[in-house]
Amino acid sequence: MAAKRDYYEVLEVARTASDEEIKNAYRKLAMKYHPDRNAGNKASEERFKEISEAYEILSDADKRRQYDRFGHEGVKSSFGPNGFDFSRDFTHVSDLQDLFGGIFEQFFGGGEGRRSGSTRASRGADLRYDLEIEFEEAAFGVEREIVLPVSEECPACRGSGAEPGTKKETCKHCGGRGAVVTSSGFFRMQQECPVCSGRGEIVVRPCRACGGAGAVKARRKITLKIPPGVDTGSRLRLSGKGESGSRNGQPGDLYVVLHVRPHDIFQRQGEDMFCEIPVPLSTAMLGGEIKVPTLDGAARLSIEPGAENARMYRLRGKGIPELGNDRNRGDLHVRIRIETPKNLSGSQKKKVRELFDAFSGACFPDVNAFNRRADEFLDRRKKSEKP
Ligand SMILES: [Zn+2]
Ligand SMILES: [Zn+2]
Repeated sequence: MAAKRDYYEVLEVARTASDEEIKNAYRKLAMKYHPDRNAGNKASEERFKEISEAYEILSDADKRRQYDRFGHEGVKSSFGPNGFDFSRDFTHVSDLQDLFGGIFEQFFGGGEGRRSGSTRASRGADLRYDLEIEFEEAAFGVEREIVLPVSEECPACRGSGAEPGTKKETCKHCGGRGAVVTSSGFFRMQQECPVCSGRGEIVVRPCRACGGAGAVKARRKITLKIPPGVDTGSRLRLSGKGESGSRNGQPGDLYVVLHVRPHDIFQRQGEDMFCEIPVPLSTAMLGGEIKVPTLDGAARLSIEPGAENARMYRLRGKGIPELGNDRNRGDLHVRIRIETPKNLSGSQKKKVRELFDAFSGACFPDVNAFNRRADEFLDRRKKSEKP
């Protein structure tokens, strides 16, 4: 085992150093070599133990005098038979809070949010609000007022949770620190005080307005500006419109998630719109104009003579405005569905028959071409079947 280093050397101070100088030196070195900042680094851990041991002796006037006169031998009895044992012999852990201040909270307290009950400011929660809007509102944007249930700082107790006029008591369990130190193996750990939930104070008479919670439910009206081009699933983020933070913490954000109601005429795919329009057989035969509903009013669409069923037409720029650039718009796609006449009377049927009897084969080129191919096929089959 290597010879023990001189305690003054370890703390990098002169033999004449004042208590304050020793304390400062220790704070600086302990922060540098603290195991939480050097996870898994064995050398740092050894160094931290060495620093802690030196501080244990030099910060105590009696032990320091013993050490000055007799060296390491003089303070051997300060420790157990195996020498310095951090978890047993280090009595300054409870002082670490004072030594390290806020930094120590970072070491042991974890990140923000874990210490919800602590005395530190904490950011308010984000809120989600689901809003249903009409197809046209999604296309062109709309202003909507929503009422949001939020929790706000109780105005009666100003968030303290104590009945106005009464005082809080310092938590006896943790002495107001909000944290307690427990041994866990080699190191002592600092944990949130279970009695006061880290607040360091106990409410003796809870506020009647909020029941001691420090917050009350409120309804907040917010006017939303929904831009043109949004779709189902679009999210609007309203910075700072979420739950208010506790103890002067930042408020959270509000996310409005949009749901667009289906339209009875149009379907939508991105910025393009789709619409199926029934067209009378006569229009399909002879050609003509049909009326097409669009977001901008009625439009005319001309159908050429002999149009087939399911033919697609595109009306450019009659779709949905692009989100963030509403001068760009998608297209409206129209698919025609040719309607065959139904519910014909006897005389109507007679006239139709007369009409179609007058048609030549050229009137139905596809039918004739198909029938020819089909007949040829059937002929071949017949011949091959013959023995
Ligand atoms: Zn209150
Ligand atoms: Zn406490």
